[in-house]
Amino acid sequence: MPVTVQRRVIFSTLLEREDHPTVDQIFDDVKERIPGVSRTTVYRTLETLANLGLARRTNHFAASARFDGNMEQHHHLVCTRCGKVIDFQDPSLTVADLPDARRSGFTLLDYSVYFEGFCSDCKQPAKAAKARQAKATRAAQKIEAPKELNRDK
Ligand SMILES: [Zn+2]
Ligand SMILES: [Zn+2]
Repeated sequence: MPVTVQRRVIFSTLLEREDHPTVDQIFDDVKERIPGVSRTTVYRTLETLANLGLARRTNHFAASARFDGNMEQHHHLVCTRCGKVIDFQDPSLTVADLPDARRSGFTLLDYSVYFEGFCSDCKQPAKAAKARQAKATRAAQKIEAPKELNRDK
């Protein structure tokens, strides 16, 4: 498949997702559609798209390298528990003029704010822990069950 077609498939896959996918997630999505594609190719293509200004990398310590097809200026909510990255827009975060950082020899081009917290799935850690515990208990019971059967024999 020509590089341009591969690139188009990867790009449209990125645009279809709003969850800031990782390279692996994009790879999983496109491997059926692009025969023989490698994870490295997907990674390189995403990097190229980012370098061309068609996508951006969203990097936050709580989340592994992810890509974002949303090129509008926007901000992110990062779940520090599961690493989910959610788009966030609020007019109060829009500054009319970027501050002057030239004293540091730095030219500001853009900015993005990352808010950290817990997503809706993770915001009740007690509940989540309870659910995990219940699941573990159920799993343990499943493992124990065959032993009981053996005992009956
Ligand atoms: Zn979460
Ligand atoms: Zn985003």
